[in-house]
Amino acid sequence: MSKAQETVLEIDFSALTHNFNYLKSKLQPDTKFLAVVKAFAYGSDSVAVAKHLETLNVDYFAVAYTNEGVALRDAGITTPIIVLHTQPVNFKTLIERCLEPSIYNANVLTEFIKTAETLSQKNYPIHIKFNTGLNRLGFKENDIDTIVSKLKNTNSIIAKSLLSHLAASEDANELDFSNLQINRFRAIAEKFKDQIGYKPWLHLCNTSGILNYPEAHFDMVRSGIGLYGFGNSDKEDKNLKPIASLKSVISQIHNIEKDETVGYNRAYISKGFERTATIPIGHADGISRIYGNEKGYVIINGKKAYIIGNVCMDMIMVNVTNIDCKEGDEVVIFDSTNVASTIAESAGTISYEILTAISQRIKRVFKP
Ligand SMILES: *Cc1c(COP(=O)(O)O)cnc(C)c1O
Repeated sequence: MSKAQETVLEIDFSALTHNFNYLKSKLQPDTKFLAVVKAFAYGSDSVAVAKHLETLNVDYFAVAYTNEGVALRDAGITTPIIVLHTQPVNFKTLIERCLEPSIYNANVLTEFIKTAETLSQKNYPIHIKFNTGLNRLGFKENDIDTIVSKLKNTNSIIAKSLLSHLAASEDANELDFSNLQINRFRAIAEKFKDQIGYKPWLHLCNTSGILNYPEAHFDMVRSGIGLYGFGNSDKEDKNLKPIASLKSVISQIHNIEKDETVGYNRAYISKGFERTATIPIGHADGISRIYGNEKGYVIINGKKAYIIGNVCMDMIMVNVTNIDCKEGDEVVIFDSTNVASTIAESAGTISYEILTAISQRIKRVFKP
């Protein structure tokens, strides 16, 4: 790619293909692959990523909210899409746009049946979410009687799948808890199947689940972070390739004297003669103020330049006293060698957060 001349997020489709194939290689041949493309495909570009994954024959997509699914349909995505976190206010839109809800409690189920019946639906596919220990969304095992009787009372909907979500699939210290969740899910699935009389698909594993619990892949797996190049462990990070690189440029260099201050609230005070570089990316772009005051850094000509003072809305200033650089030089915030997970660690957070925070105002450029 040519050097960045403004702030850009580069998205590497060959890395995406690599990650998809790597994760697929961990599955049985008949296990379906759902790609999680919520939150702009983890801060990248949900439409471009979904289109690329369609060319790789992905089986399903998932988003968190209805409007994210609508955006994919508007862009011509035809693969089935699960909306993980539905709200009754969106049910009409959801059906009109052929989006499939994950249903997590009795009230939401009742409301969805009402809407499906009003819109004269037959066997509209829904996905039933069970809470096996995350305590976030989902029915409990003892809700099965209620769910089954509601389903048997209508032909407007059908339970296409049952799902649950692991609380700590990346954490080897939580092996017992993950196994407990897997066993609870199996028991729920058995009971549900016996009562309803057919066998919905089952899916439980996110990326770390795919990698760490091969016995729990069931009929489909749901991968997000792995597709974007992170495996939640040093070992698995090596097998994956980050798809997104965030790059910028030096807008201006200042030579400052000892005891001058830099930025808002005069938070940085120079220790001697120093050089600073101003970069056009700020907290409105996803570089949290937490990275300010020498917690975070960028890479300029292969060297770390620490962020000095407070992160501004649209800019950061970095210390380039010991870096040979000039105005117009490229700046790397993260890429495939200076990975987002390491930068995230400098601020006590995780790859998921730094990636999804990247603002939509940053231009996306695509590398085939
Ligand atoms: C976000 C999400 C996923 C994807 O998790 P990763 O760790 O990114 O692979 C899977 N399932 C559900 C229910 C989710 O909310």
